[in-house]
Amino acid sequence: MIERPNAVIDLGDNTSRFGTPPAALRVFADAGPGDASEYPAPDAGALRAALAEVHGVPPARVVTGCGSDDVIECAIRAFAREGERLAFAAPTFSMIPEFARNQRMEAVPVPFLPDGAWPVDTLLAARPHVLYLCAPNNPTGHVPGGDLERLLACGAGLVILDQAYAEFAGRMRIEAPEHPRLLVTRTLSKAYGLAGLRIGYGVASEAVIGRIGRVRGPYRIGRLAERAAVAALREDHGWAHAHVALARAARAALSAALEAAGFRPHASEANFVLLPLAGAAAVARRMLALGVRVRAFTGLPGSGDALRITVGPPPEMDAALRALAAATGEAADAVALRRADR
Ligand code: PMP
Repeated sequence: MIERPNAVIDLGDNTSRFGTPPAALRVFADAGPGDASEYPAPDAGALRAALAEVHGVPPARVVTGCGSDDVIECAIRAFAREGERLAFAAPTFSMIPEFARNQRMEAVPVPFLPDGAWPVDTLLAARPHVLYLCAPNNPTGHVPGGDLERLLACGAGLVILDQAYAEFAGRMRIEAPEHPRLLVTRTLSKAYGLAGLRIGYGVASEAVIGRIGRVRGPYRIGRLAERAAVAALREDHGWAHAHVALARAARAALSAALEAAGFRPHASEANFVLLPLAGAAAVARRMLALGVRVRAFTGLPGSGDALRITVGPPPEMDAALRALAAATGEAADAVALRRADR
């Protein structure tokens, strides 16, 4: 159980710090008792239709889940068996090794190349049954270079391309190569500001979607969550665009302020910035005591210890910078800044 003190500015989970789509909030205001007492639609057909329209694909090529966590885990369960290999470039989304463990698969982490590109040859040499790719990558924030087409031809039963942060890289719509075994996953938790509703989705060939659907089972999305998500997608696309623009501006301002303060943040295409920093865990603890929660990582391949800071409106970024300065100043002897390797 993770304790979250009250009145903390929470920059730890890459959720939206810029509010919630108004159309989604109206759905909650208009809710009736039946929304609590009755089951939702088994396969979230209205949500799939709205997502299909956004991305210009037939609804039969869309699957939804309780967050994209759920979509990714269902897909792994649908395609892999105990003892098989799940390969990924490291460091990446921290749940992936856990999903491998849950499925009794062998996790095969392969460090990114020094320039941040996919380690294509080593990933291919691992002969994975499931290949997981994340772009922009969490926690580094970068969009890896490298030959995606070669990776797709790796022979894995399933290739997952996780685009949880793609909107912040300027990709509101999915633009991915057509490939029969490719699943592209996205979420409404980030650019759409709806993390509390737990709505994720995937777009793939009908064959892949059908196989995931059998594992997923019915009733994954609650009635109000589905209606609020549909309202946000249909009525608040403009809100999402504006949110993404604010987040991108905040990212540029945060990176510039960190550099001006002598830090070396990674260049980011997501709604967070990774800051290599020795002793990051202790710094994060001190920042939390000062009212700002950020995520600390220890010994990341290519970055070492690091802090990941979600971007937010200027007052939150000012508070984060003040807390960081105070927390690192307190431990000036212990903290040595590290230059990013890539
Ligand atoms: N993929 C990545 C890369 C993430 O960082 C996250 C959440 N932090 C997710 C997927 C899952 O998001 P959700 O379950 O809220 O859709």
